[in-house]
Amino acid sequence: MTGPRFTFQGDRLWLPTAPGTSLDVAAETQVRLPEGLVAQRVAPDAPVPDGVEALGLRDAFPRMDPAEWTQAGRAYQWLAWEAGHRFCGACQAALEPGEGASRRCPACGRVVFPSNSTAIIVLIQRGEGPRRELALARSPHFKPGVYSPVAGFAEPGESLEQTVHREVAEELGIRVHRLRYFGSQAWPFPNGLMVGFRAEHLDGELRPDPAELEDARWFTRDDLPLLPGPISIARWMLDAALAEGD
Ligand SMILES: [Zn+2]
Repeated sequence: MTGPRFTFQGDRLWLPTAPGTSLDVAAETQVRLPEGLVAQRVAPDAPVPDGVEALGLRDAFPRMDPAEWTQAGRAYQWLAWEAGHRFCGACQAALEPGEGASRRCPACGRVVFPSNSTAIIVLIQRGEGPRRELALARSPHFKPGVYSPVAGFAEPGESLEQTVHREVAEELGIRVHRLRYFGSQAWPFPNGLMVGFRAEHLDGELRPDPAELEDARWFTRDDLPLLPGPISIARWMLDAALAEGD
């Protein structure tokens, strides 16, 4: 079964600008996923064909159907895994194909499986009715005026719930309870899996960690700041909460 094919040059996706444009090019690396999706990477100096625009995935998002963009991100994550696991991390020998999607070291027998970096994002609320508020924070990397739910990477040995409690305590200085799973998003920058939760404030005053955040505040729904764009689960969580009147 052959499914859609996504061609990358470095971090840039080759996006046809006209229907029927052929992307039949010589690839350096090709990964064929079980559902038929084909991910391929061309040489850094390969000329970009006519009728094709080379765009980073963020810039490609508004130009693509969301489901197609998600597939392109999946293709990118597999290519990134291939590119980053060519040698054994224990003894530096070149890895060989192993069972299934794994790679195996012929020298020391180590087997590596495709992996991703798991992170949580948590939308925290407090209060009832018109006084219901959301805790949102600003990283210095955000566009001016944008606030978002806090997020952070799961550490080895942690459950996702433990990650939520640790990140909220570290970044905001508060405690939460009543965690509810919201949903998840593969996040191809470069190999993330974002897992979304909602939670209620338990106690503590907001004290944003200055190493990570430049501000954090409680916002009512009538007085929201600029929110993240529709590319990410951060916005999906906010839209769901606001649409429910929650
Ligand atoms: Zn090895």
